[in-house]
Amino acid sequence: MSSLSDIGTIKDIMQRHGFSFSKGLGQNFLVNPSVCPRMAEMGGANEQSGVLEIGPGIGVLTAELARRAKRVVAVELDDRLIPVLGETLAEFDNVKVIHGDALRLDLAGVIREEFADCESVAVCANLPYYITSPIIMALLESRLPISSVTVMVQKEAADRICAPVGSRDSGALTVAINYYAEPRMLFRVSPGSFMPPPKVTSAVIRMDILPQPKYDVGSEKVFFDMVKAGFSQRRKTLANSLTSGGFLSKEKAAQALSAACIAPNTRIEALNMEKLAALSRCILEST
Ligand code: SAM
Repeated sequence: MSSLSDIGTIKDIMQRHGFSFSKGLGQNFLVNPSVCPRMAEMGGANEQSGVLEIGPGIGVLTAELARRAKRVVAVELDDRLIPVLGETLAEFDNVKVIHGDALRLDLAGVIREEFADCESVAVCANLPYYITSPIIMALLESRLPISSVTVMVQKEAADRICAPVGSRDSGALTVAINYYAEPRMLFRVSPGSFMPPPKVTSAVIRMDILPQPKYDVGSEKVFFDMVKAGFSQRRKTLANSLTSGGFLSKEKAAQALSAACIAPNTRIEALNMEKLAALSRCILEST
């Protein structure tokens, strides 16, 4: 199969299969030939590993993963791409394409059944940007037996995810991801690397999943409710944001902040993971 990042090859495939891009499904296909080999290498695809890909498109990244990994399973929502992938990935006997919605599929079951003989499992994907946060959070929250998640996302999302917790650029997603994993920026990708080119710059990030969370938050429910309340009014002081939406009463908020040695006029964006975990434990004790 000639290179799947070649524009002529893509146009030929599209014409033969009567395929046109769906904006709604976030279809921007990679045409820069250097990106997928880099992603596959840095995403940890090797002879012992299984790789789960979300949104293979016409299979440009899938092929690079299949060349390196023991086994690749790719989940694609667009039924028009299933026959295309049958053609473009025909040379690989270690790839399975599943037609389905990555947000609804039983990914734990897929991993159990498909990667039983693999030493580790990694997720590697050029994500459809309209579901970046839900996909990442679903992968992390369901505690899948995966070692890392390497994904292409919008540069702004990458900057936010990789910002230090406790800095102005951090957000609720930064905190949630840092609870489950260690995120890091790998490299940027320009709009011209895609067909059609998106309006925004992209970036590839890698999140290494922690075997256990590093921080004792007391209760995950309290911790994530606190993060949600705090960041939904991030410019307000914690004394105000923690009472917004009925999360805590004024008295309980004051009591917990005092027990955690945090000044009531602090904003949530100024707290690092240790402080956030301490505050969560104090809220749990005060309720
Ligand atoms: N991997 C290809 C590449 O890099 O050229 C395509 C990436 S494109 C940005 C995103 C892909 O995700 C598209 O093929 C789209 O049809 C697919 N997709 C969108 N929503 C999905 C979902 N909920 N589950 C699985 N695949 C999805």
